[in-house]
Amino acid sequence: MDCQKESNMENCICSYPGCSRKGVCCECLTYHLQSKQLPGCCFPSAVEKTYDRSFKAFAKAWGL
Ligand code: SF4
Repeated sequence: MDCQKESNMENCICSYPGCSRKGVCCECLTYHLQSKQLPGCCFPSAVEKTYDRSFKAFAKAWGL
């Protein structure tokens, strides 16, 4: 299966500029999980823009 980067990009809400992982979701997820974080698309838009991608920020954002 080929990478679906172009179609993934249509749904990518990450606002961090210049990241080479945009649209390559497997690399994005691996990168953030290594730091106990989640990709930007896991967060509400207002929280995503803070670039705090921690599990703690995720739980707080969704009231968990
Ligand atoms: S969530 Fe992180 S790794 Fe994924 S595209 Fe945005 S800045 Fe890059």
